[in-house]
Amino acid sequence: TRIKGDYRYEIGELASTLNYMAEEIVRSNQIKDDFISSISHELRTPLTSIKGWSETLISGGYDPEETKLGMGIISKESDRLIGLVEEILDFSKLQQNEMKLSIAQVDIKVLLQETLLNIWAKAEKKRIHLLLECEDTIFIRGDANRLKQVFLNLVDNAVKFSPEDSSIVLSAERLTNTEMAVIVRDSGIGISEAHLSRVRDRFFQVDALNGGTGLGLAISQQIVELHNGKLEMDSELGKGTQVTVILPLDDVQEEKA
Ligand code: ADP
Repeated sequence: TRIKGDYRYEIGELASTLNYMAEEIVRSNQIKDDFISSISHELRTPLTSIKGWSETLISGGYDPEETKLGMGIISKESDRLIGLVEEILDFSKLQQNEMKLSIAQVDIKVLLQETLLNIWAKAEKKRIHLLLECEDTIFIRGDANRLKQVFLNLVDNAVKFSPEDSSIVLSAERLTNTEMAVIVRDSGIGISEAHLSRVRDRFFQVDALNGGTGLGLAISQQIVELHNGKLEMDSELGKGTQVTVILPLDDVQEEKA
């Protein structure tokens, strides 16, 4: 009869949904296990170096030059640890919907200039040229610190995956009366088509040996979405990568225009 048939159908549906959910749980547990082992390694590396250098310095007998070198490494590795812990905390805040934005008018050109200043030294070490192409007076509404975090993460990835003596272009332009785009373009190693759809997944890394948590792009995408924006990626293996962040323009600016 019809009712019986419907029930059977529904039970069949339910069983396959439950099966799917069980598979998802296994999959997400696997992802979490992988994450915990990779993050433990990421945390241990700087800690080992801090521990080693502090013991060496405590034992004494080093000249001022060597002492300075050791202190410099301790400071750099502590910064790396702080960065990792902050990334994990941001991710967990976003997961629980608890990231609060402090919204104000943001001048995109100023924000991008500040971003580049923050990453200048790192790029310099690889003799990478950082170029800024941005017109004046593009205003949006958003959390300047969080947006800077997004652009820093994108330029940091670009530097990390670009060869020495290459260039990275950071540009911004109005797209329409209501939208603008920030584009980060590198000519680095690129990402294969198969990996491109996954690099924004939490914990995903093409090569775990590169260090990092695999959380940067997942965090950036979520921050952009909290600003009612979109993060898009194009890439070609061996050619380079382009990340586009599309954000709504500030309404006030439109009224003035
Ligand atoms: P991580 O902090 O581990 O780098 P991300 O989420 O920022 O994590 O990036 C995930 C992965 O995406 C990276 O490990 C790398 O494999 C790839 N990736 C990101 N940006 C680029 C880029 N500009 N060029 C090449 N590969 C990239």
